[in-house]
Amino acid sequence: MAKNLTKEVLEDWLENVRPLARDGKVADYIPALAKQDPDELAVAVYDLDGECISAGNLVCCFTLQSISKVLSLALALMDNGEEYVFERVGMEPTGDPFHSIYRLEQHAPSKPLNPMINAGALAVTNMIHGATPDEKVGRLLSFIHEMTDDQSIRYNEDVAVSEFQTAYLNRSLCYYMKQHGVIEGSVEENLDAYTKQCAIEVNINHLARIGAIFANDGKDLESGRQIIPRHLARICKTFMVTCGMYDASGSFAIRVGIPAKSGVSGAVVGSVNGFGGIAVYGAALDEKGNSVVGLKLLELLANRYDLSIF
Ligand code: GLN
Repeated sequence: MAKNLTKEVLEDWLENVRPLARDGKVADYIPALAKQDPDELAVAVYDLDGECISAGNLVCCFTLQSISKVLSLALALMDNGEEYVFERVGMEPTGDPFHSIYRLEQHAPSKPLNPMINAGALAVTNMIHGATPDEKVGRLLSFIHEMTDDQSIRYNEDVAVSEFQTAYLNRSLCYYMKQHGVIEGSVEENLDAYTKQCAIEVNINHLARIGAIFANDGKDLESGRQIIPRHLARICKTFMVTCGMYDASGSFAIRVGIPAKSGVSGAVVGSVNGFGGIAVYGAALDEKGNSVVGLKLLELLANRYDLSIF
């Protein structure tokens, strides 16, 4: 573990940043997420030797939400190869909110600009191999089981249903892309798979370990087995840098400077080559949809341990 980085240090930082939770707001456009407690905070660091330290609420689970976009991208790339995937979804950041619809019409033939915005992620989920939504989600879960070494991870049924029933905007994005041939098959089935993927529930240590595996070039921490091919892990980390924090990715790159992906549940995963994975959770979000407490913790860690990749 990095020098001087102890559980006590993380606990101290967590208490120092706790008041910031008052400055944010829990996401409520997915009704089930509104039930999250903004005072429940957690942070974990997983190093490349497989050592993990964490502080805060360690048992409680939270849903991956947009963090799942990195994992579905990795799986779709492994299933189809780069050429196929990037014929259908672009590589450029948008500077727009994650659910924005308007660039779809600007970029013929309605190709979403990148896999980290909702339009791109919905197209990526469509590319995961599997005859049914449950088969796709089952494959994504197996992939996550392999990364976390925990077979018990599931998706939260209530959160998935709650999002599916209210996903008017994501439904519109899908129907728009279906019209233009970007999405194949049933839109409702694609949305079913996507909302279940977003509702996959992990704890803070799981998430930090996922970050560490990306930092370890896609290799399992103990066995060294290649779970994600190195070049694909690198593609995922690059997207985390350019568009992982929504339309705050630029300021985050300057303030923190590590590949990271955020979700509206209030979780963020960071991945630092040569260091490991970092996970933070705090449901109160700023106006861009990033965890206020999470951003501060990442900034503290990055500054103290000189983690910026720039
Ligand atoms: N499931 C959420 C949605 O599609 C994920 C968004 C997010 O985490 N930014 O709206």
